[in-house]
Amino acid sequence: MKLLEERIRKDGRVLGQDVLKVDTFLNHQIDPELLSAIGEEFARLFAGKNIDKILTVESSGIAPAVFTGLALHVPVVFARKNKSLTLPDDVWIADVYSFTKQTTNHIMIDHRFLKAGENVLLIDDFLANGQAIEGLLAITQQADAQVVGVGIVIEKTFQKGRQILDDRGIQVESLARIQSFESGQVQFLS
Ligand code: 5GP
Repeated sequence: MKLLEERIRKDGRVLGQDVLKVDTFLNHQIDPELLSAIGEEFARLFAGKNIDKILTVESSGIAPAVFTGLALHVPVVFARKNKSLTLPDDVWIADVYSFTKQTTNHIMIDHRFLKAGENVLLIDDFLANGQAIEGLLAITQQADAQVVGVGIVIEKTFQKGRQILDDRGIQVESLARIQSFESGQVQFLS
């Protein structure tokens, strides 16, 4: 997606070897016009998939997921993160190791918001090592729901998330695919 690549080139900041900071437009301050275009693009890519709802993880997946839900006219559910040892009843739950925070969280979705047989689209801001999406996959499996695809705003192709999802035969659509951060510069996969 050209508009997104241009924005990453202009405003993205590379931190260390493998982290891209996009807090000026995606996950702290949010540019609604860009996010609206992102939602429309996911809706186009997953058209005709009979999607019942969109799942994401709080907090940075919520903005792209909501704009996609708006474009597809379906509800959006975000998995909540929970660090406490006491867990509520009636939730689907998975453990997710956070790439950027280097901590493990439970993520959970109330049984009321994910039912057997529902067709779900998973959306997230980044695909790195695939832990967040694997957590959502585990939750959909527990609920007996079907994953019809995964939409990622920014994929880092040099990390292992894409391989994990390809091995499972899941349709993954990434709007920007980054090949490397050589010399602190973002190189997109051409
Ligand atoms: P994964 O679970 O695929 O390893 O990482 C995905 C999650 O980690 C995303 O939900 C995102 O919040 C965070 N993340 C991974 N890589 C980056 C990055 O380069 N920049 C930012 N801002 N977040 C990232």
